[in-house]
Amino acid sequence: MAAALRQAAQALETVSETPRLDAELLMAHLLGISRQDLLLDLPKLDVPDGFSALLERRKAHEPVAHIVGEREFWSLPFQVSADVLIPRPDSEILIETAVEIGTDHPPTHILDLGTGSGALLLAALSEFPEARGVGMDASPAALAMAHNNADSLGLSDRARFLLQDWTMADWTQSLGGLFDLILANPPYVSTKAELSREVSEFEPHKALFAGAQGMDDYHVIIPALDALLAGDGIALIEIGFDQAGQVTILAEKQGYAVECKQDLGGNDRLLVLRRDPV
Ligand code: GLN
Repeated sequence: MAAALRQAAQALETVSETPRLDAELLMAHLLGISRQDLLLDLPKLDVPDGFSALLERRKAHEPVAHIVGEREFWSLPFQVSADVLIPRPDSEILIETAVEIGTDHPPTHILDLGTGSGALLLAALSEFPEARGVGMDASPAALAMAHNNADSLGLSDRARFLLQDWTMADWTQSLGGLFDLILANPPYVSTKAELSREVSEFEPHKALFAGAQGMDDYHVIIPALDALLAGDGIALIEIGFDQAGQVTILAEKQGYAVECKQDLGGNDRLLVLRRDPV
């Protein structure tokens, strides 16, 4: 087994920045055990049939999360597929910030715009046991996945999912009320951007691309906050590393005070919006 993992890691070096981890995750998946158990029991395990087929898929740039059908976010397991954006560690800054701000005044009504796998909404609900939340998405397949995730995390009694498209007129009305915490990781990639093959060939373009400047969805979401955000509520909006300036200007024009936060890699990743009291 040790040799098989070593060889697999070597074979993945040209396609992955984390070849050893990828090999371990694929092997653990095939054996139906956790990565921890794989590493603990390494000498006792035989290499199962089918490992090379999984390696071939990874060598063709398919993300590990798609091959194993799962990705961890905020230390919770999320089922994923090609219908949803794979939750990124960078987005955990939204949850970290929600927890920081919510410690004194925990939110009770949470909205996740473009919920996809449900990762942001469900991670937030796991932190705020008194809160209920709505995850909105324009993709029925994504909502099915979000439903599954709510069920398997034991959060379905507090999570509701709504099929709705924010390019439609009056879409905010179907949300029926105000929220004290709004989360959003909207599409924000420029259609001119060059993405890795993992992303461009396997992840849903609808969840990624937002026009020539990557700004199209912010121009819809930020003005709509007016109808959705409670007076003392906060909105946590994910941004691309080079979008803080433009999105801040847009939000300030709409009357919000804006604070920018960085992800683990030190890139601008999050804007915290509050209604400006002045
Ligand atoms: N951060 C994502 C990427 O890897 C983009 C996510 C998004 O558009 N919301 O490209």
